[in-house]
Amino acid sequence: MSAAQSEPQPAVVDPGPPPSDAVTLFDGKDLSAWVTADGKPAGCSIENGAMVCTTGVGNIYSKAKFHSAQIHLEFAIPYMPDEHSQTRGNSGVFLHARYEIQLLDSYQNPTYPTGALGALYGQSAPLVNAARPPQAWQTYDIIFNAPKCDDSAVADPGSVTVLLNGVLVQNHTIIRHEPGSCDFGGDGPLMLQDHNFEGAPVTVMRFRNIWYRPLD
Ligand code: MG
Repeated sequence: MSAAQSEPQPAVVDPGPPPSDAVTLFDGKDLSAWVTADGKPAGCSIENGAMVCTTGVGNIYSKAKFHSAQIHLEFAIPYMPDEHSQTRGNSGVFLHARYEIQLLDSYQNPTYPTGALGALYGQSAPLVNAARPPQAWQTYDIIFNAPKCDDSAVADPGSVTVLLNGVLVQNHTIIRHEPGSCDFGGDGPLMLQDHNFEGAPVTVMRFRNIWYRPLD
């Protein structure tokens, strides 16, 4: 045996998809991995292997909680030609239920850049607009390094790297936090947003193939 062969080897992962060490959150069969904010069964439905979530069901949360993770999900945004900017196909992928990777129909639909598809909402615009047209399936691959606190001070602000449809849109973007607050650092769920408010247009979001790999 050579010296190289005697060194500890990387763990073997069957790449799948999904990878053999991934935690499945939705594989087209059931919604058992998801709950509402008050712990009730998620009110989305399943059609043709997709989770279908319509305005009014509320935000849904993964039962599973994680710290840092690689996250994959696929989504189809509805065609809403009568809506513009933030009301055209708005949802979101919330890391630890608080840091939003925006979901929006950004195909020929200008809005403020930190609110576009691929944005870390309110903080960082996507590097490019890699949106597909509405109704097409699109993918997010997210590397989330969770923030950490140490004695109520930010020890690590955390970061996100995001590929939208295989195109880099966030490159190790450092997460900004409210000054003086450090109430984070543990594990948290993935949240899918119901962008609901008084007068909100009915938005029918579709999701499929949702999984993550813990990175701790
Ligand atoms: Mg949103």
